[in-house]
Amino acid sequence: MQPTLQALLSLQQIDRKLYSVESELERLPIELQGREEELARLTEQSTQLKAQAELLRREAKEIEDYTVGMRQRQRKLETESNKQKIDAAMLASYEHEIRTLKRGISDAEDEALRKLSAAEAVMDEAGALVGKHGKEFEVFEVFRANVEKELAEAEGRRAELAKQRDSASSDGVPADAFDLYTKLLKSREGEALSELADGHCQSCFVQIPRNLGVRLAKGDLVQCPSCTRILYAI
Ligand SMILES: [Zn+2]
Repeated sequence: MQPTLQALLSLQQIDRKLYSVESELERLPIELQGREEELARLTEQSTQLKAQAELLRREAKEIEDYTVGMRQRQRKLETESNKQKIDAAMLASYEHEIRTLKRGISDAEDEALRKLSAAEAVMDEAGALVGKHGKEFEVFEVFRANVEKELAEAEGRRAELAKQRDSASSDGVPADAFDLYTKLLKSREGEALSELADGHCQSCFVQIPRNLGVRLAKGDLVQCPSCTRILYAI
């Protein structure tokens, strides 16, 4: 195998591991943040529900306060109706108003009760969310501790690999070949090279035209026409 490919293959051994460690170091904090946001959403939802219940209770209270005035009016009219010297037309008018007030009070009481029971249902829902948050928070705390441990371990591995990477020689690798290799590492998820065996690229399994195989055998740097990885043959 030509020296450039040999050198790149040695680098690839380290870079593959480095890529996977670095992906982990990127992935873990994002996952942690996602779970944190999920918990914050639960808190936000339960806060909104509690505010909704509070509003319903306030509305029920306003209705109840309003019926106080109606009851006072009803009592006043009843007192007036019971007086001796009331004329018949006035009495009929009072009785009519009393009936209307009674209906109004009854409707208002029903409405206040409906609002109170709706408030209770909303509070139950909020309570369930608080419970869910509590359980998920416990799971999250364990997860967070694990992530911190994993991150520390991954950091250690990265430092170790970076040291190996520094001492691995890319001597004799032409600058353009090295640039290509580095770009492919990023774009091809840590695998910049691919073996050519049985006429096929072993990464994407596309058949490689014979002339490319011939050029590779002559010592040219050849890329897979499909996945663009640098091909090597053992
Ligand atoms: Zn390929």
